[in-house]
Order: sequence, then structure tokens, then C-alpha cells
Amino acid sequence: MNNISIYVHTPFCKHKCYYCDFASFANNEDLINEYYKSLKKEIILRKDEINSREISTVYFGGGTPSYVDSKYIVDIMDILKSEFNINKDAEITIEANPESITDEKLENYKIAGFNRISMGLQSANNDTLKKIGRIHTYEKFLSSYEPCKSAGFDNINVDLMFSLPNETLNDFIDSLEEVIMISPSHISTYSLILEEGTKLYDNYRKNNIIIDDTLDRKMYHYCINKLKEYDYEQYEISNFAKKGYESRHNMSCWDFEDYIGFGSNASGFNNNIRKTNKSNIKDYINDLNNDTLPIMEKTQLNIKDLIGEYIMLGLRKIKGIDIDKINKKFNIDFTDTYKDKIENLKNHNLVTIEDNHFRLTYKGLDFANTVMVEFI
Ligand code: SF4
Repeated sequence: MNNISIYVHTPFCKHKCYYCDFASFANNEDLINEYYKSLKKEIILRKDEINSREISTVYFGGGTPSYVDSKYIVDIMDILKSEFNINKDAEITIEANPESITDEKLENYKIAGFNRISMGLQSANNDTLKKIGRIHTYEKFLSSYEPCKSAGFDNINVDLMFSLPNETLNDFIDSLEEVIMISPSHISTYSLILEEGTKLYDNYRKNNIIIDDTLDRKMYHYCINKLKEYDYEQYEISNFAKKGYESRHNMSCWDFEDYIGFGSNASGFNNNIRKTNKSNIKDYINDLNNDTLPIMEKTQLNIKDLIGEYIMLGLRKIKGIDIDKINKKFNIDFTDTYKDKIENLKNHNLVTIEDNHFRLTYKGLDFANTVMVEFI
């Protein structure tokens, strides 16, 4: 059997950011203890889905895993280690926010086996941070970044957003340069997406503000070119890494490998079945208290869906899709099956085939969704 990855969800945050539509909740601290008890139970109940398969990556995401007492995180890691065959070189990541990192937590994460930290900065401009509901300042970020390094984490990702409220190109350049200066091994950059139901969405609608697409693309391309100058290789639409520091967990998803998700709202994809857990924390806990798996959705993907998802995820990678691999995996002739679509997209300079890989062009990066939709 192939390797598999594990995702573990923490749904708690100290404060809800104004742009966030993730399954994360503030003011639910009274549920933390029960939640992690349920999480342990879920892992045990579902252990047959993994069996003896080797675990190549583990990712604790959220929410804010660093917000809760590290004893909960360590406990879950202990269960994963005792129940599953985790590769000794596995990449084990925890997401952390600047305001909740402490020396003690970092030490506990290190002892538990974490070897990668993903930090949410989003902007180095304190006014912008306030406007998007972040509760840390840039200075707070810096004062928690250094302890991560001192604790022995050399593999650190920093998340940065662009097209934030009132953000000018120069504001973004300043933020990017601040991040480049501290030289993390990995940088993820995303443009702001206004998600319905968020505070920012309501605010933009109420005040008739729209995101300036031209400026958004300027920021994105500035970012690509600037990071290249500093030896960050873009390996995915939104992700850049120093050599050897690409996120193996994310790569396994884009490579369409199996992963299993534990925790509320966690999704997994295993043996061609996609499963998503309930997102309401109380429902999640109640189901497990009744020895029921808290599954909200379970879909067996048919061959058409599988190929569509494979292409969609594969196109996110800068190196694109290995044509031999997709042919072998699905027993198809990719270039023949999609001949007309590929020709059309090539004529618009959105995709190319080089070294037997089908990938987006530089122009195509701006139209990734348009290209992907062609194959779904
Ligand atoms: S810290 Fe992250 S998960 Fe929590 S509210 Fe903010 S963006 Fe959402």
C-alpha cells in the first residue's frame, strides 16, 4: 500500500479574523477538553483506515493549534505515534499564530516530534493587521519568530496575504521585504478572497468596495519575481520555498496522494473516497460520545471526477502534470483525450507541454481557475 498523510484539525481561535471563513471559532474554550477527548476517540475508531501504511507527513492545522495548551497537541501526537507507523523522516507541521507561541509550547512541540512550523503573519503593517482583525502586531510576530528558531525549528513557513484593505503596492512590497529579511525557509502568499458570511465581506458590500484585480495581479507578479531574486523557488501557485523546503504535506495533496483528516470539519481522501467531518464542534463531540463517526459527507469519486481532480490539483504545481504518470494511473492517453482543450488553451498561451509535463504558463498562473474548469 502507498504512504498516507494525516491532517489533524483544531477548531479554536482566540479571535475570529474578519476575512476568515474556516471552521474556526472563538469563545469556545469550554469545549477544548472535550474536543480533544473526542479527537482521540475518532483516531482510535478509524485506525483501520490507515492500518500499517507508512505515514509520510502529519499536519496540525486550524483554527490555531498553538492557541490551545500544548498538552492537548502532545497527547494527540502520542496517540498518532503509538497507533501508526510514522516514517522517522516524516514532515510534522504545526500551524501557529504569533500571539499564542511560548517557549514552553515550542519545547513541547519539539519533544513531541514536530519539525516544521507554519506561522500566520499576513501583513507586516500594523494598521492593515488591525483592519483584517488580526490580534498581533508585526513586532509580536518578530518576537515569536526568533524563539521558533532558537527552539531548533529551521523549517518555518510564513503566510502573507495581499490585496488587503487599502493596501497599496508599496505597502505590500514593504511587507514582503520584511519577510524576506528574516529569511524563512518557506513563504505562502494568497490574495484576499471575500468570503460570504465574513465581516470583511459585509463591510466591502456595504461600502461598495471592490478588490482591484489589476493591483492584485501586480502584487502577485511582484512577489513571484522578488522571491526568485532571493532563491525562493515557486513550486505551486501560492507557495515558495528555499531549496529542499517545499511543503511535503501540501505536495502530497497536489500529487493526489491519500490523506486522512481527523477532527471537526477535517477532510480526507483515501482509496478514492472523500470524507468530511461535521464542522460544528458540539455535533462532533456528541457523535463521538455516542460512538458514532462524525461524518458529514462521504463521496466515492467516479473515474471522471478522479481524473478531473488529479488535473486540477496537478496544475497547481509549477512543474505541472507528468503525462506518463497520469496516463499510467488512469489508463488514458492524456494528450489525445484532451487534444482540443489543450490546443485551445495553448493558443491562448495559458498552458504548455514541456519535458512531458503539462503545466500553466506564466500568463496561465493568472487564469488557473479558468484552465482547471476545462477539465472538470
Ligand atoms: S487565526 Fe486563522 S483560522 Fe483563526 S480566525 Fe484567523 S484566519 Fe481564521
